Amino acid sequence: MVPFDVVVVGSANLDLAATVERLPKPGETVTAIDYAEYAGGKGLNQAVAAARMGARTAFVGCIGDDDAGAFLRSVLQEEGIDASLVRVVKHPTGRAFISVDRSAENSIIVVPGANAHVHPVALPEARVLLMQLEIPLSTVVETTVTARAQGVLTVLNPAPACVLPREMLESLQVIVPNQHESTLLGGTDCLLEAGVQQVVTTLGARGAEIASRNGVMAVPSHRVQPVDTVGAGDAFTGAMCAMLAEGSTMEQAVRVAAVAGALATTVRGAVPSLPRREVVLRAFESGVT
Ligand code: ADP
Repeated sequence: MVPFDVVVVGSANLDLAATVERLPKPGETVTAIDYAEYAGGKGLNQAVAAARMGARTAFVGCIGDDDAGAFLRSVLQEEGIDASLVRVVKHPTGRAFISVDRSAENSIIVVPGANAHVHPVALPEARVLLMQLEIPLSTVVETTVTARAQGVLTVLNPAPACVLPREMLESLQVIVPNQHESTLLGGTDCLLEAGVQQVVTTLGARGAEIASRNGVMAVPSHRVQPVDTVGAGDAFTGAMCAMLAEGSTMEQAVRVAAVAGALATTVRGAVPSLPRREVVLRAFESGVT
């Protein structure tokens, strides 16, 4: 049996989040009214999302030899995610300094730190490879090309979006951009023409769209009362990969992923909002979608 359903090669951060009355102007100091630290990074978030959907998940990434790194390792362990290919490097664990004001406007500084040192490694056997763009692009390209040659389903969440080399698009089977990222990448037709087999575009409250050379299919959203959309894309992508690894069709996987994404908007934060399999399937089966 293939030992893993989903292997995620990506970023892991410690998020340091201060709530302020208003964001400081350049040179200004403001006093925070609340503060919290939590695990983050799109790689770690999506690995947790896949694991909570029941996928046997491995995470490949880099952390520093510091308290933040130890904390992130403990989160992976708690979630039952294999971390044997998490490397400790001589750079600080990645961090995101987040300021959020009363009107939910935010400003964020990301320190890649150890994430900038994720290099290609021999991957454990898995059905699905999932990556994002918070680690060096050269690593994402090389890992995609190698995995594809080994018969692994290659999936990319192109966030944050950047120009992707043709060599990579030819090896990529599924790309999952949000609307903004899709525009930056030239749109669905351009991605399909470059060789990506399926483009799954997430459309926020409007659900998602699956496009291939055979046509386009709209997948409706699941109706919820959102309180915070942070983590919706991560929940969606992780759940979609978990379903594909089980052998679901793309349509089934995206329908379930849309429910996972919607449920993530009903809880604040990223990792705390990632829903578990039972909850997602119950909501999915209730037919409210
Ligand atoms: P990102 O967080 O990457 O910008 P989206 O906002 O497109 O991604 O959200 C990802 C998915 O989560 C959507 O495709 C949709 O299925 C679900 N989702 C997001 N916001 C809502 C919402 N307000 N109501 C219902 N579903 C939502």
